[in-house]
Amino acid sequence: MVSNMESVAKSSEHIKKTLIGLSTIEIQEWCIKNDLPSWRGKQISEAIYKQQVESIDQIIQLPKNIREKLQEEFNLSNLELSKEFHSSDDVTKCLVHGGDSQVFECVLLPYEDRVSCCLSSQVGCPMGCKFCATGLGGFDRNLTTSEIVSQYLLLQLRSKRRISHVVFMGMGEPLLNYNNLVKAITILHEEIGLSLRHITVSTVGLVPQIKKLTELKLPIHLALSLHSPSDEIRSKLMPVNNRWPVKEVVGTMIEYQKATRRKITIEYLLIDQVNDSYQEADAIGELLQGIPSIVNIIPFNYVDTENGFKRPSNGRIEAFKNQLRLNGLTVTQRQERGHDIAAACGQLAGEHSGRFARRLEKNLFTVR
Ligand code: SAH
Ligand code: SF4
Repeated sequence: MVSNMESVAKSSEHIKKTLIGLSTIEIQEWCIKNDLPSWRGKQISEAIYKQQVESIDQIIQLPKNIREKLQEEFNLSNLELSKEFHSSDDVTKCLVHGGDSQVFECVLLPYEDRVSCCLSSQVGCPMGCKFCATGLGGFDRNLTTSEIVSQYLLLQLRSKRRISHVVFMGMGEPLLNYNNLVKAITILHEEIGLSLRHITVSTVGLVPQIKKLTELKLPIHLALSLHSPSDEIRSKLMPVNNRWPVKEVVGTMIEYQKATRRKITIEYLLIDQVNDSYQEADAIGELLQGIPSIVNIIPFNYVDTENGFKRPSNGRIEAFKNQLRLNGLTVTQRQERGHDIAAACGQLAGEHSGRFARRLEKNLFTVR
């Protein structure tokens, strides 16, 4: 199933190579191939990842001829801003594209004690969850490492404070784009200097990729979108459950927890009268008994799903959380922001012209 999905991904090979997305070692190798000392490579990577220059011309430490040589082969990044939205509660959402017509989104989330950002891993998503605007819009392609890292850098340019936290909860299923994701995480950590502990990957629950990630033993935060402890309900909400049912995916998450010693997060989307009963809270308690974990409640954000899904009342949300606590679980609720610009969880569709359409209209194409 997974390899089929990956093979659907179209490449963007026609577009020029980019410096952003390369490691220092790869830039040094380019230098050596071009008869330049390898310390120039370090200089280049520091300029793009530490100083965060906005063009190759701004790498003024380099003589003009080296900048020209770089420009012949590379763009700094292919990521271009198409549109920017600001919410009343200080959230910025950027609609971007990688030089083709496929738009995707990233979100800047300043909090009092930190600045976080939410990045996309794919244009669209093939997983088809019934409550999610991204899934309802279908799938175009995986993002490149460069496009993933460039989202962070583009948002950092818009933030007064340093972005210290990254969550992969934007468009797409990160673990379907495993190699580019892991390389992007490596660059965010080793080149840009983010702590791995401040990086969260949220997954629909792809067992083989979770196992692969477990072997890497990275201390990143892994979050599973569970959304129901019952196979019957979960399969209706999330087709992935037909392939890897609840017990199997939770078992794999527990192995991840043991290998990394990181608490696992269970994301739980609450939909009125669908998955918010006491019985479900008790079943989650049983499933996670004794496992260092946090259950993070995300009340349904409005998406026109045609299933008539609704957000539960605040009373029902609180009652569900209390029942989880009675089962000995640690419970948090997602702090929701950016509703007025459709930047909340599940609302990212890259919507531009019509319902869930992601195609960029030519006359809206703006170049940074
Ligand atoms: N594909 C990954 C990460 C992106 S989705 C995953 O599914 O985990 C990020 C989170 O938003 C997931 O927990 C997802 O279930 C949730 N989500 C999707 N649609 C939503 C909606 N309409 N309201 C609230 N959360 C939603
Ligand atoms: Fe894809 Fe996640 Fe949306 Fe499901 S919830 S369709 S996996 S982005």
